[in-house]
Amino acid sequence: MKVTDYFDGSGTRISFELLPPLRGSSIESVYSTIDRLKEFNPSCINITYHREESVKSKLPDGTIHKRVLKKRPGTVGLASAIHHKYGIDVVPHIICGGFSKQETEDALIDLDFLGIHNLLVLRGDGEKGTGTFRPHKDGHSYAVDLVRQIMDMNRGVYIEPYYSVPGATNFSVGVAGYPEKHYEAPSFESDLGYLKMKVDAGAEYIVTQMFFDNRVFFDFVRHCRDIGIEVPVIPGIKPVAIKKHLEILPEIFGVGIPDELSGEINRCKTDSEVYQAGIDWAVSQSAELKKSGVPAIHYYTMSRPDNIVEIVRRVF
Ligand code: FAD
Repeated sequence: MKVTDYFDGSGTRISFELLPPLRGSSIESVYSTIDRLKEFNPSCINITYHREESVKSKLPDGTIHKRVLKKRPGTVGLASAIHHKYGIDVVPHIICGGFSKQETEDALIDLDFLGIHNLLVLRGDGEKGTGTFRPHKDGHSYAVDLVRQIMDMNRGVYIEPYYSVPGATNFSVGVAGYPEKHYEAPSFESDLGYLKMKVDAGAEYIVTQMFFDNRVFFDFVRHCRDIGIEVPVIPGIKPVAIKKHLEILPEIFGVGIPDELSGEINRCKTDSEVYQAGIDWAVSQSAELKKSGVPAIHYYTMSRPDNIVEIVRRVF
């Protein structure tokens, strides 16, 4: 089913975002996470995509070996495995970073053959440590260009019209939106304008970056509607789980933490009090969003589902 078919006005649905396991780890860790989440009947499970990064390791002779690798490979295989084991719709993330257009086309052909037709399309971040995003020399610079490539394939237009008459694919595409603007964008307005470009190019829904103040989300949706973005906007929720999140979430993602939340977290005396305060905050955010009639709530699980299970149990 298309993700958007779930947004039929019959109530707020749930999606969970999972990470592929670290290279060398078993798929069983993902299955045990899904075993805990499936009781909530999610409309879909998203699987993130992780680009390559530089990794240093110390060899027995003391020399440092540096190489470039993907620490969390396997998005496509994992999506297919989950889909076939659980019958749940899956949404692999697909990114521009690190890929040529031809490699992207190959990955899309794999997905099409596997019967996976929902995608969340993103640019990706720069290589870790570099701070800036550099596209592959034969790749895309922005998510909108990748959306266009996919929409071309949906019309039967491939990068090279080769060998046989190409078949049209049937991908349904979601894209990312930033209620507090993307960290690189010079202004909220320019970022919103580029978001509209992604929707005009064919994206059927938007999943937002995490936020901790629902007013930010409601304003964002209003601004989207004001400039003619009519597609469903799905709020992304991530509970604060450790005190350090108060620093690193704003730093990495450019999101704000309301004083009330940071006050509550800072008053906690133990790690488990922090964890619980993060859950309570996400519960009240989720309850208000649900009451407002959002089509779905997207939970960033980071593949550690304990807090998410409690939040969803208390809200749905
Ligand atoms: P874009 O839409 O391409 O925007 C990037 C920046 O460029 C913005 O500042 C925008 O304003 C600007 N811009 C856009 N189009 C243009 C244009 N045509 N000309 C000039 N400027 C433009 N990252 C991963 O690596 N893997 C994942 O699995 C992943 N999943 C995510 C899931 C969600 C729900 C979200 C919100 C983010 C996710 N990310 C993931 C992070 C994402 O890749 C980063 O936030 C990235 O920096 C931007 O991606 P984007 O698709 O929003 O980029």
